[in-house]
Amino acid sequence: MVWPCPLPVDAYIAAGRRLEFPRPDCPLCAGPMTLWSGHRRHVRAAGRCRKIFVPRLRCGLCGVSHVLLPAFVLAWRLDTAETVGAVIAEVAGGGCGVRPAAARVGVPHTTARGWVRRFRVRAGELGAGFAALAVELGGTAVSPAGGVCGFALAGIEAAFGAAASLPGWLAVGVWRFASAVSGGRLVAANTTSPFLVVGRRRFMPPVPP
Ligand SMILES: [Zn+2]
Repeated sequence: MVWPCPLPVDAYIAAGRRLEFPRPDCPLCAGPMTLWSGHRRHVRAAGRCRKIFVPRLRCGLCGVSHVLLPAFVLAWRLDTAETVGAVIAEVAGGGCGVRPAAARVGVPHTTARGWVRRFRVRAGELGAGFAALAVELGGTAVSPAGGVCGFALAGIEAAFGAAASLPGWLAVGVWRFASAVSGGRLVAANTTSPFLVVGRRRFMPPVPP
């Protein structure tokens, strides 16, 4: 699970375990969840590798536990959602090639190429998911006419534009928003996992900082 954390990475790290983590209902049975344990993982932000605490919540009804990632990370990726998103927006949006985009955010171009490749593979699915979410939130309808990558990017923009009129989302930013509503799977290799956009149950509201 991914929560729409609006905090800068530094502030998240500084708060550590004392952070007021949200307690969403269990995604399987809607039961109440409590903080159970957690682990540390790496995240690379602004060219620096850092360690963050990631809590694990456990459902009091079904007993299943879920990792609660902050939206500035993506599942199984070292770099922040903002870094990955900046590269995807530039390259998949047709603005430039992978190498200059990778150099600008300080990641190996092979890593950046992997993100763009995954995004292209999933672009149709992402476009449909985010376009549907945009409409669900009362935003503008997006047409798939401009090619799948353009469709996916336009869908993300439209959905975020609509969400930004709801409390809290503007401060979260577009790529954390995209991470949050896709369950961190924006560029995940595992395409068999369901895309978590549509359905308000998955649409966890942001917590004010
Ligand atoms: Zn449960």
